[in-house]
Amino acid sequence: MDCGSGLLLLLTRRMRDLGPGQGLLVRTEDASVPSDLLDWSRLAGHEFAGQTEQGDDGAWHVLVRRGDDGTTLAAGVDSAGPDAVPRENPGPGQGRPGSGLTDTTFTSGSATPVGERLWIYTNFHCNLACGYCCARSSPAADPRLMPLSLTEAVAAEFAALGGRELFVTGGEPFLHPQIAETVAACSSRLPTTILTNAMVIQRGARRRALESLDRDRVTLQISLDSADSDLHDRQRGDGSHARALEGIQTVLGLGFPVRIAATWFDDEPAAGAAWTALLDRWQIPEPDRLVRPVARQGFAEEAGGGEQVTVDSLAPEPTVTADGIWWHPVAVTDPVMQVADAPLPLAAALDTIRDTVAVQDAARREGRRHVFRCA
Ligand code: SF4
Repeated sequence: MDCGSGLLLLLTRRMRDLGPGQGLLVRTEDASVPSDLLDWSRLAGHEFAGQTEQGDDGAWHVLVRRGDDGTTLAAGVDSAGPDAVPRENPGPGQGRPGSGLTDTTFTSGSATPVGERLWIYTNFHCNLACGYCCARSSPAADPRLMPLSLTEAVAAEFAALGGRELFVTGGEPFLHPQIAETVAACSSRLPTTILTNAMVIQRGARRRALESLDRDRVTLQISLDSADSDLHDRQRGDGSHARALEGIQTVLGLGFPVRIAATWFDDEPAAGAAWTALLDRWQIPEPDRLVRPVARQGFAEEAGGGEQVTVDSLAPEPTVTADGIWWHPVAVTDPVMQVADAPLPLAAALDTIRDTVAVQDAARREGRRHVFRCA
């Protein structure tokens, strides 16, 4: 691990546990780390207390003491304020609505201020097992269900902290046995978007759950990778395209706001024009069309595809699972992107993210294109 691949976030987490003047000893076998820690200490307001020569075991030891005012940069820096350095789009997988077919990179637009949006993984199992799934979801996956009481507590704390919007994702959220109550716990407090493949909502309890949701407060974001079945079924499984179309028509017919999201390995595959034409026919507004690149996480990482994402390259989108808090929803299988070991409290985790962002922004102001080295 180096400062571009997760160490920065881990250091920030650990530093927040210390009192002023207390020290953190870092052992590293990566030659970039001691010099990066020198810069990080200065930018974060800590004291670089020294380092050893490289030992016989190939490692360096670096001692950093927490700044004696007991705070870090986030206390004095509004990373979303007018002086903020432009940051990157939320990135692949579950980013904000794009402006069109070309908006598929990590480098356009500005990031959502930390604390405005929160993602909640209701579960990790899914009726599909897409080859690029960042969450490693499948019918056989451990569900890791988010208990309803926990969702209520998370939504309540986030609303009290000034949050503006919630996103419910998975896995396939409609496989959660209490999805109606879960979404209601969110939408009763904040506008809520559910990410779904729309394949399991046609009948039975899940249809009733869908119909019970508040059409004024709930948006359905539905995955559709292509207008015809070729690309969609190749990426998501035979027959999935037809059932997704059926689901989209059901949701539109019930009067829900609908957002359509495609996931592509290429910036603009041959199927892109037909996808746009289909959404034109459906009269899906431009802001409700989302194109996402594949993140090299989960199944995509095992297949060696997609774009590499790190804390340094991916603007944060705080994400809660039943067992922790993460930097971004595409990175919930990556231990170096974990912000907290428990889903509550949110406030401390959001502060950890703000501290990290503040240091990154300060580094960019000094002209560093990448804040710290990427692995
Ligand atoms: S990408 Fe979505 S639909 Fe596909 S397996 Fe993962 S959670 Fe399920």
